[in-house]
Amino acid sequence: MSLLEVDAINSFYGDSHILFDVSLRVEENEVVALLGRNGAGKTTTLRSIMGVLPPASGHIRLGGQAIQGLPPHAIARMGMQLVPEERAIFGGLTVEENLRIAALTAPDAWPFDRIYAVFPRLAERRKSAGRALSGGEQQMLAIARALIRDARIILLDEPFEGLAPLIVRDLVRVSRELARQGRTIVVVEQNVVAALSFADRVYVLNNGHVVWSGSPDALQGDPALMKTHLGV
Ligand code: ATP
Repeated sequence: MSLLEVDAINSFYGDSHILFDVSLRVEENEVVALLGRNGAGKTTTLRSIMGVLPPASGHIRLGGQAIQGLPPHAIARMGMQLVPEERAIFGGLTVEENLRIAALTAPDAWPFDRIYAVFPRLAERRKSAGRALSGGEQQMLAIARALIRDARIILLDEPFEGLAPLIVRDLVRVSRELARQGRTIVVVEQNVVAALSFADRVYVLNNGHVVWSGSPDALQGDPALMKTHLGV
């Protein structure tokens, strides 16, 4: 049994059919990247898994339990967290207040110190307002909010968007370390190079279909595939 099993889901925005029989598997401790051009359906896949946009058909299981049709908060309680592209942190609240709110309803919330050990920069910024943070710090806080709830599987939507290469490298290092410590990560990225530098496995989406899956090495060894579906 895989930690996350997505079987032939179909998702719609109104009358627009966006995902076509999308299937994927994520094992415990894996970092899995979903890649594809703009509009391929990557964000829609994450939203469907999290219950934000419930699929019209297909099956999704988390730890063997069916989750399709459950609301996002119920899925969150089962140990999955979505970190959306826009990060959605509270700009008027401090770093620590943002963390405290995220931890509120989590039964196994981490103490702040455990979060600050993962992201020392957030400890330095604990009294700063969310809106005063740099892009990289905001992304750290967005991931930290998922972690403080002890999420075992974290869905990251374009975490590296707009960040400087050094910050991306740091986030890749931290994400790898989290996976090594037992977390599971599904990441959607436009930054193919960064995504391939830390994913164990890759799915490529095109027009709402999974068109390829395999290892980062296999993908990089296939320039035609990289060019057709990823534009690199
Ligand atoms: P991007 O990197 O541009 O976000 P993506 O692979 O994540 O790409 P999605 O955001 O999943 O792609 O979008 C898939 C398709 O769904 C696109 O054709 C997009 O126009 C459409 N779409 C996305 N959000 C909505 C929405 N709220 N209402 C209607 N159509 C939408």
